[in-house]
Amino acid sequence: MTKAEIISGTETAKEVRAAVAGGVAALKEAKNVTPGLAVVLVGADPASEVYVKNKARQTVEVGMNSYEHRLDETVSEVTLLTLIDQLNRDETVHGILVQLPLPAHIDDHKVINAILPEKDVDGFHAINAGRLATGQSALVACTPVGCVILAKKAKSDLSGLDAVVIGRSNIVGKPVAQLLLQENCTVTIAHSRSKNLPDIVRRADLVVAAAGQKEMVKGDWIKPGAIVIDVGIHRITKENGKSGLVGDVAFDEAAAIAGAITPVPGGVGPMTIACLLRNTLLACYRANGLADPVI
Ligand code: NDP
Repeated sequence: MTKAEIISGTETAKEVRAAVAGGVAALKEAKNVTPGLAVVLVGADPASEVYVKNKARQTVEVGMNSYEHRLDETVSEVTLLTLIDQLNRDETVHGILVQLPLPAHIDDHKVINAILPEKDVDGFHAINAGRLATGQSALVACTPVGCVILAKKAKSDLSGLDAVVIGRSNIVGKPVAQLLLQENCTVTIAHSRSKNLPDIVRRADLVVAAAGQKEMVKGDWIKPGAIVIDVGIHRITKENGKSGLVGDVAFDEAAAIAGAITPVPGGVGPMTIACLLRNTLLACYRANGLADPVI
């Protein structure tokens, strides 16, 4: 039986996109500038194709320009770096995103760190990670920003909460933990070597599950009333033979105990692209010497 408030990422992402569209219109009015997002896709991974298509559609819907660059799977690292250099110099491009994963012969870190930090709308550049960690203005990774926006839907002031982040990846776990620290949470980061994970999670007023393990977080791990943000995405085949998605949290069990919880699908997932558009708008405002819009 669901007791928890369901935090809708679908609705919240709509609100973020509407705010971004407002910011785009204001920028056109004030400076006659249209934000531009360039997405680079190497190879033809089907999941990446879907993400790139969705990104392009939503970019145009909020009034921005979308530029797609598709490179063959066999492209050399040098050719990819040359394209990034061109995009860095292109004044119509305010955000650059290189869709990951890249083929094995290309060094992800080298490519990401070749993007100008001011155009790194994925927030993966070492400079942006460092700025986040030291409390300076940064472009912050999209999924983590989405997680915090959703947590604040459940409780606008997270200050003082005991937060447990499960996962320590550079793209989710670590930046989420940094953001929650900025929100004055007391943050514990758990990972695959953590001992007694259920007990660690039981202490949490706020849980962010980003382990990439299907329905790992059980209902009896959840402190009554806790906020649960589920980042995991796993494709399953349901009993009726149709495919569906589940997260890192056993939703039905957890929803009976938690105070608020994000569903999968319709939770963190839709927030990622919305926050990418938000970052592109921020990058464009900053490139034009304007203060950050309130979005
Ligand atoms: P990674 O595989 O890069 O990282 C997983 C992290 O979880 C690691 O730190 C790992 O620990 C930890 N972990 C793995 N197994 C366990 C375990 N049994 N107990 C505790 N910790 C564990 O994944 P990502 O961070 O990239 O993604 C995490 C999940 O989020 C995935 O399901 C992914 O699909 C989803 N995702 C969703 C997005 C969205 O838009 N909604 C965006 C990005 C990711 P260790 O470091 O010790 O190996």
